[in-house]
Amino acid sequence: MNVKERKKKQEKELIEKMISIYCKGHHEINLCDDCKELINYANQRIDHCPFIESKTFCSQCKVHCYDHNHRDRIKQVMKYSGKRMIWVNPIVVFRHLTDSLKNKRRTT
Ligand SMILES: [Zn+2]
Repeated sequence: MNVKERKKKQEKELIEKMISIYCKGHHEINLCDDCKELINYANQRIDHCPFIESKTFCSQCKVHCYDHNHRDRIKQVMKYSGKRMIWVNPIVVFRHLTDSLKNKRRTT
C-alpha cells in the first residue's frame, strides 16, 4: 500500500471512530443513520482530497471541502470527540502524530 492509500485509510478510520464516539454520546446508539451518512460523506471527501499525502487531519486542512451542512456537523464531532480520542484510541492518534512529524522533516 502506498503512502496515499495508507493515509486515506487512516483518515477514514479516524473519522469513523470520532463520529461513533459522538453518536454514542448524543444519540445513544452506535451509529444512527444520520451519523452513518456523515461517515459516508467524509469518506467521499477523503477519496477526493488532493492533499491527503501532506496533511494530518481534515480539521486542520486549509481547503474546506465540506459543504455547510456537513461542515457544521463534523465540527461538532471534532469538538466532542477530539479530546476523548486520545484516551480511546491513542495508537491512531500517535500514528497521525508521527506521520506529521515525518512530513515536517521531509519538507525542512
Ligand atoms: Zn448519531
